[in-house]
Amino acid sequence: MNHEESIEHIEQLMDDAIEKNPHCKDILNAFRPVIVERYLLVDKLELQNTDATKIDKRKFKGGVPVLRQTTLFRDDDPWAEIALSLIPAMKQGFPALQDDLENLKVLVEKGNISIYDYFKSYPADGDTIVTGWASEFNITAAAVALLLITTMRIILEKRSQHIEWKGGHWEKGYCPVCGTFPSIAMIKEKIAERWLHCSQCGYEWKFSRVICPYCEDEAYKEMPFFFVENKDKECAYACDKCKRYLITLNRMSDLIFRDLDISAISLTHLDVIMQKKGYQPMAACEWNVF
Ligand SMILES: [Zn+2]
Ligand SMILES: [Zn+2]
Repeated sequence: MNHEESIEHIEQLMDDAIEKNPHCKDILNAFRPVIVERYLLVDKLELQNTDATKIDKRKFKGGVPVLRQTTLFRDDDPWAEIALSLIPAMKQGFPALQDDLENLKVLVEKGNISIYDYFKSYPADGDTIVTGWASEFNITAAAVALLLITTMRIILEKRSQHIEWKGGHWEKGYCPVCGTFPSIAMIKEKIAERWLHCSQCGYEWKFSRVICPYCEDEAYKEMPFFFVENKDKECAYACDKCKRYLITLNRMSDLIFRDLDISAISLTHLDVIMQKKGYQPMAACEWNVF
């Protein structure tokens, strides 16, 4: 697929998701320009590799994700270029943040803020930096956070594509690359394996179906909640020990290309219902915090 075809394909995936779940139209259309820009950026970016020799296989097997062993962020990564490519897409999708995003654009262009500052010590000083920039430049923290999260995804997704041995011996319910809990799961049709998806970095990994990814409770039984008639492929599994839920796609064919972030955003009606029942998502994402 060339560039234009793959973008057309992504647009089509979003159109199909809206047709299937019409209530997700507004939220998916808000994220649409950012999702398209993500594909363009991840495709064209060329990043230097980080020092993979620092990754200890025993630590990894013991559940220490790559990001806690070595940094996945470099000061020579094109932070400003990525942020400045994302800002117009974010302005388009989130008109309420337009002025704040325009201010951020000028600050990045003039070099008054350095996006990398946030990632230098990530995640240690993250909140301090967000609130610091917000108050210093009179910008809402939500706009700052959205820009940083979206920028992070681009770098992590691209860089994680080049980490060797990733995925081997990983037995945790959080992401082997960045340590975040999954935003959505997918159970495959032929071999009924469960794959978890991380929305912070885009990575997917296989995980047991009989253990809760969040609290590792082994008495966990797959207790699906189905909500919409004739849509038994879309459900949420909840754990009664930790009271977390995970949106899950069932019996998914291997043959169809899908984008699990688009799937997650199109199923936020399930998030609403589960949260009303008193459950919390395993990962808080920009689209499932109400
Ligand atoms: Zn991740
Ligand atoms: Zn649990």
